[in-house]
Amino acid sequence: MTQHAQRQIINHCQHELPFEACGIISGRNGKADTVWPVENISRSTVAFSMSIEDISYVFEQSEMRRQSVMGIYHSHPTAYAVPSRGDIAYNNYPNLAHIIVSLSGRNPTMKLYEINRGRVRQLTLKLY
Ligand SMILES: [Zn+2]
Repeated sequence: MTQHAQRQIINHCQHELPFEACGIISGRNGKADTVWPVENISRSTVAFSMSIEDISYVFEQSEMRRQSVMGIYHSHPTAYAVPSRGDIAYNNYPNLAHIIVSLSGRNPTMKLYEINRGRVRQLTLKLY
């Protein structure tokens, strides 16, 4: 991911406080550089969900830019950057990377995960 994209994600997450923020990242050649903030229709401090319409829109727009959707991000306003039980149970996109931003500490932290059928694996987030 580009450092610029990382900053955009963190800004979005801070802007949505006290609620969880969510969105999608796209890019090409394994490098995510485009951030798509999406409305959290749950409007919750401990959960998020995105509408099918918003998700479809991002997939279409990414394709038009010859990019592919690479991951989903969301924030944890008061919890650590680890997937919650809900994040694991209601994950509809096992093929996408999951980025979690924690705003619970003095500085935001960002972690990358693969969540597939109840299994969680932390991956290294590379910044460019
Ligand atoms: Zn979560």
